[in-house]
Amino acid sequence: MSGNISFTMIKPSAVSAGYSGGILKMIEEGGFRIKALRMHHLTEAQAMKFYAVHAERPFYHDLVRFMSSGPVVAAILEKADAVSAFRALIGSTNPADAAEGTVRKHYGKSVQENAVHGSDSDENALIEASFFFSGFEQY
Ligand code: GDP
Repeated sequence: MSGNISFTMIKPSAVSAGYSGGILKMIEEGGFRIKALRMHHLTEAQAMKFYAVHAERPFYHDLVRFMSSGPVVAAILEKADAVSAFRALIGSTNPADAAEGTVRKHYGKSVQENAVHGSDSDENALIEASFFFSGFEQY
């Protein structure tokens, strides 16, 4: 059975461009309940740990530098079948390939600066949620 939790970050360039409110509006209008929400400026070490699965990929260091370049808005989202529902809402990794009406199509700038992160599995959603939020911060 699919889980009902996904984890997202609004990425630093989208936060600094003033897109946080618009993105959160799309998320809520997409039927997701915000279960936890906080701004956080990741250290390089935290970004390296979060993206450790990509450590061998050529863009890893650029990605770590970018994700630790300014604050993100992190959130835990709740909805039936949350991981796949949220990936549908945000669209393809590369905004140029993302479908019309998706968050990345609307707010993404490039494959790296693609506005938002979304968990890729139920297991990772739980790992990522607990990386950012304690039980006391989840409602
Ligand atoms: P996602 O699950 O759609 O976020 O995509 P991935 O898990 O494959 O990649 C994680 C993140 O790494 C993406 O959201 C992008 O920010 C970045 N990324 C992925 N592919 C590339 C790439 O080819 N070049 C660069 N610079 N960044 C990339």
